[in-house]
Amino acid sequence: MHEYSLVQALVKRVQAEAAAHGALAVHRVSVRIGELSGVDPELFQTAYDTFREGTICAKAPLTLLRVPAAWSCARCGARIPPGAALSCDRCKTPARLDEGGDALTLEQIEMEVP
Ligand SMILES: [Zn+2]
Repeated sequence: MHEYSLVQALVKRVQAEAAAHGALAVHRVSVRIGELSGVDPELFQTAYDTFREGTICAKAPLTLLRVPAAWSCARCGARIPPGAALSCDRCKTPARLDEGGDALTLEQIEMEVP
């Protein structure tokens, strides 16, 4: 499943960060999920809770921040509402995706550093 490989990559990344900082423990992991990422937050949460057993993330709850898609005009900067034709009313420039894209971003790791 898609979510499982993402969680696997996430835990690996957290492990690497924790090792780089000499952390004793990880207390919380926060991840931003873009609306258009195709990631199901509930599945992701379930996958994380299953996978974190026995890893450095075992005692670190996951916080998911969902980022709604936001579009604007690449030329004049006008906000373009989602669901509308994805081009600017004023100058007909194709919309640019500002936020909530296909990204899954590691936002923050709370860890215990000696
Ligand atoms: Zn425009």
